[in-house]
Amino acid sequence: MQYDVSLRGLNTFDVDAHARRFVRIESLAELYSLYASAEWSAGPRLILGGGSNLLFTGDFEGLVVHIGLAGRALVDEDAEAWYVRAGAGEDWDGFVNYTLEAGWAGLENLARIPGTVGGAPIQNIGAYGVELVDRFQDLEAFDTERGELITMDSAACGFGYRDSVFKRTPGRYVVTSVRFRLPKAWRAVIDYGEVRQRLLGQGITNPDARAIAGVVAAIRGEKLPDPKDMGNAGSFFKNPVISGPAHADLISRFPMLVSYLQRNGSYKVAAAWLIEQCGWKGRSIGRAGVYQNQALVLVNQGGASGHDVMTLAQAIIDSVRTRFGIELDVEPVIV
Ligand SMILES: Cc1cc2nc3c(=O)[nH]c(=O)nc-3n(C[C@H](O)[C@H](O)[C@H](O)COP(=O)(O)OP(=O)(O)OC[C@H]3O[C@@H](n4cnc5c(N)ncnc54)[C@H](O)[C@@H]3O)c2cc1C
Repeated sequence: MQYDVSLRGLNTFDVDAHARRFVRIESLAELYSLYASAEWSAGPRLILGGGSNLLFTGDFEGLVVHIGLAGRALVDEDAEAWYVRAGAGEDWDGFVNYTLEAGWAGLENLARIPGTVGGAPIQNIGAYGVELVDRFQDLEAFDTERGELITMDSAACGFGYRDSVFKRTPGRYVVTSVRFRLPKAWRAVIDYGEVRQRLLGQGITNPDARAIAGVVAAIRGEKLPDPKDMGNAGSFFKNPVISGPAHADLISRFPMLVSYLQRNGSYKVAAAWLIEQCGWKGRSIGRAGVYQNQALVLVNQGGASGHDVMTLAQAIIDSVRTRFGIELDVEPVIV
């Protein structure tokens, strides 16, 4: 147990917050003994992975549990799929590369997303037409209410768009490992963003998973700020989903609206477009700014506090509501 620990290097927003108490766990035995100790119940707790999807708005006056559970292996195989498990503390992108190098395709569209394997199901990470749920088998989590390790399938995890039961019941579950189902009858998903165009540009018409991962990594490198250079947590806002009638009304007033029809007849509206239309792209308040290449990303231009970032976020939310009547939802977890 450590006391008054700086979390600066442990959150990609590069916010200087402190944890009153801090512990890193590297085995289930350590988790069980922590759970049995007085430290566990002495105040609020935060489970921390890679710190790439949260924003500290102040010091954390409780216990931060940093997940360091390692390990990754092929655990099963049948005619349809390979089943691969990884410890919650494994680096997500390292795990994706491990599967691709072994010849198990399926996670290539999710290459280069920061964070840990255990953090990935929390918001059902997604990119370029694939979500974690598409490759998910089940996970193991320590249920802190029941005090036991349980297995949760997709239904139990309640996955949605950047959402899950874990996001809706913060603190109840500690994800300890995740098992993925990587299909043997693999099919490339390249119809999103510029993936197909880039592949064609390289003369590749029939890409394998590693080629897709390479292109995805290149596009991400150009569009998103590297947290090593500029603090951020990726997209700061979710794309709002609106009903068919609401969409018809909006598009009659804003014919250039960027939106995508969903399978259930609703529409996903590009939050980046809404933010740009309100004139926020590249603007800042204090040391917190809207990234110049991608209006969904808020950045720490150096020395911003979490409070500064939230002030900017709130101003953006207010503008979008006033102009379009749409309420933007924040994507990272605000601590
Ligand atoms: C540059 C950049 C690009 C990004 N691009 C994408 C993208 O394309 N798509 C996408 O979906 N996300 C993206 N993200 C967001 C982020 O990388 C993912 O959400 C990632 O999965 C978060 O994992 P983490 O380990 O860093 O979680 P953390 O930030 O440490 O935690 C986030 C939340 O999950 C909880 N949590 C973490 N680990 C566990 C665990 N083991 N058990 C229980 N709860 C846990 C925390 O308590 C917190 O509530 C991006 C972020 C950055 C900085």
